[in-house]
Amino acid sequence: MIKNALIALLFISFVLPGRAESDVCKFTCLSLGTTVELTICLDGISSAAAKSAADESMARVKEIDKMLSVFDKKSAVSAINDDISKRTRSLNPDLYSLIKRCNEYYALTRGAFDITVEPLVEAWGFGPSQIRKSDPCAAAEALKYVGMDKMVFDDANKAVSFDDPRMRIDFGGIAKGYAVDEAVKILKRRGISSAIVNMGGDLYCMGSNTAAGGWSIGIRNPDDKKSIIAALLVKNKAVATSGSYENFYIYGGREYSHIINPRTGRVARNNLRSVTALADDCMTADALATAVFVLGERKGLELVEKLPGIDVFLVVKDGAGARISMSGGMEGYMAKR
Ligand code: ADP
Ligand code: MG
Repeated sequence: MIKNALIALLFISFVLPGRAESDVCKFTCLSLGTTVELTICLDGISSAAAKSAADESMARVKEIDKMLSVFDKKSAVSAINDDISKRTRSLNPDLYSLIKRCNEYYALTRGAFDITVEPLVEAWGFGPSQIRKSDPCAAAEALKYVGMDKMVFDDANKAVSFDDPRMRIDFGGIAKGYAVDEAVKILKRRGISSAIVNMGGDLYCMGSNTAAGGWSIGIRNPDDKKSIIAALLVKNKAVATSGSYENFYIYGGREYSHIINPRTGRVARNNLRSVTALADDCMTADALATAVFVLGERKGLELVEKLPGIDVFLVVKDGAGARISMSGGMEGYMAKR
């Protein structure tokens, strides 16, 4: 997972004009296979208070990693996946409500976002075994037991069961977004009003860092990673990016990337290079970025236009180059450069 996600860090960069270094504290650690970076503005709080809030946030992120990583045999999700009987299992309330939220995204995106995609992720070489080799036969077989509609929920007992014992779940599409939100909750509770929580490009902008009234976020150009294709000005919003251009391999002359269409069982292949989603919380942004990447430009925009508070910025392949496409509300976040 470390490998995968250090890559994702490259999706987004952010710049911090307008503040003296001494007004800002930065904290980093490695978790969820990426660099977790907290940038906290010392507005009315001491650096010791910022450090203590950062420590609590990092501890929570590590707890989430322990719960959600399919790469960790001892995680709560591995316990579900490795239970070959798939009998009804009561879950801790956090995990149960997380799965229920994933089920909402599944319904909202008509199955484009689906945490039961794990057997397909494995078949296309991106699972824990990291074989980086496609197995279309395994994918065709796995498709029979992929789909959150094959999960049964028991709210009273916070328990789940599966129609098919071969089903497995993968939180890779939302883990970072969820962890960002949990860290933000802690920072807010600790009285911090201005900060950015960044996990490999999935981030939340709390308050503001600039006189312009927000945080300045750069979206990388997929075709020239040293340059930024657009700059956004974001305040009290989350940003998450999904793309095909970082985590992929080439096999038999074809490109395979780590986002799968759970409805066809195939690697998502369309004209999109990257999807950057904005939402009020980072888990929603993360899920929607993944789903829009699966849906493609037209269907993705159609979905997003119906969802209040959500916008997307798309980098679309155009011949040998690329063009930009966005939802209606996105214009309002474009920073003047
Ligand atoms: P990243 O983790 O690189 O930031 P994403 O948020 O788009 O990118 O998540 C991609 C990961 O989500 C994959 O590596 C896989 O574990 C999982 N995944 C792949 N396809 C889907 C899908 N259609 N729905 C939900 N999760 C998916
Ligand atoms: Mg995602």
